[in-house]
Amino acid sequence: MQTNFTPAQLADPALATAEAVIRKCVHCGFCTATCPTYVLLGDELDSPRGRIYLIKDMLENERAPTAEVVKHVDRCLSCLACMTTCPSGVNYMHLVDHARAYIDQRYQRPWSERLWRALLAMILPHPARFRLALRLAALGRPFAGLLGRATVFKPLVAMLALAPRHVPAAPSAAPSPARARKGRVAILKGCAEPVLRPEIRAATIRLLNRCGYDVTFAPDEACCGALVHHMGKEEAALAAARRNVDAWLREMDGDGLDAIIITASGCGTTIKDYGHLLRADPAYADKAARVSTLARDISEFLAAIDLPPVEPGKALTVAYHAACSLQHGQKVTDAPRQLLARAGFQVKVPAESHLCCGSAGTYNILQPELASQLGDRKAANLARLQPDVIATGNIGCAMQIGARAEVPVVHLVELLDWATGGPRPARLASSS
Ligand code: SF4
Ligand code: SF4
Repeated sequence: MQTNFTPAQLADPALATAEAVIRKCVHCGFCTATCPTYVLLGDELDSPRGRIYLIKDMLENERAPTAEVVKHVDRCLSCLACMTTCPSGVNYMHLVDHARAYIDQRYQRPWSERLWRALLAMILPHPARFRLALRLAALGRPFAGLLGRATVFKPLVAMLALAPRHVPAAPSAAPSPARARKGRVAILKGCAEPVLRPEIRAATIRLLNRCGYDVTFAPDEACCGALVHHMGKEEAALAAARRNVDAWLREMDGDGLDAIIITASGCGTTIKDYGHLLRADPAYADKAARVSTLARDISEFLAAIDLPPVEPGKALTVAYHAACSLQHGQKVTDAPRQLLARAGFQVKVPAESHLCCGSAGTYNILQPELASQLGDRKAANLARLQPDVIATGNIGCAMQIGARAEVPVVHLVELLDWATGGPRPARLASSS
């Protein structure tokens, strides 16, 4: 795509990156077919190509974001299906991330949107606050029907629908040594996942220990910054990235790390991008790149090592839901299915497996109607497989699909742990 940025504009490294992305687009429109919002709405401006045009026009002319542009950018899930489809290698992720930050700095949203966004940014990345908010959700749940009548409360109603009825106790973050030591890994503690599903961390530690890996947690590490990054809050995202880079470097340069293991693929995509995120920070660019090279999705890591022997008798039919952040963001596609098959499960993949389930970080709270349509569509495609259980590798997907599915939704690491000597996942136990 031809661009007309001035030399002065291109002196800004962020704008130069955006321009390089835009120039790669050849308008072919292949990406529209796999874009969930274009599939649902059929509007060119809700397609990747349409958004690229809108963003180009806004950046090139240094226009203040209009409500119309913000609407179409907000509707983007950042699912990155367009990046998988694009034959020209357009890095849409870096472009839309820049556009979101540009909008956040220059656009005055209506007060209610500002309020919900500020609350989400204040609560979700902090496990203690998030746990408290989930407990308070029990008080608000009886009023959900009443609140749903007012547009302004729609994000709250979406949150109440997604909030689990039982809030589990906090998981342990104590280091866990292996018996036969093959290496040492750090697990991302994260923010939402340990609050909603602490059993994922427990299964990951057990399995890694049985594989011979010591597991540690970097003391000062916390939320990876993805949630605020996708809301355009660039400074908050950069601060989170710097804090985690420092925390993991202390471990890497101390007792050493073979990998930084991530069990929520949405976080993995962001951590693998820390090198890009901090590229303009002379104090952090190299350090962030080092950290990014060690980041591994749990399925990626397990596929590259020897697993413990598989115990017989776990021949369930598993519908595998590929999280967008894993299949499109990290291009990890085969490993999860192959691991489940090696563990003795019959693995099935649903129709439209490339389409997002509508979770997408805070999307199912901020865009509840579109998210709900995508969630229902995904759940229906999964149900057609008549599985015993649905497996995925991202907590957001597990919550979004779990709210609609008739069968349990678990993280694939729980199934792998069970198949190799760990306990039966509690969600399976309670469903049988
Ligand atoms: S990231 Fe997803 S929703 Fe956004 S433009 Fe690309 S395919 Fe469409
Ligand atoms: S597929 Fe790639 S090159 Fe073609 S319109 Fe979409 S982003 Fe542009």
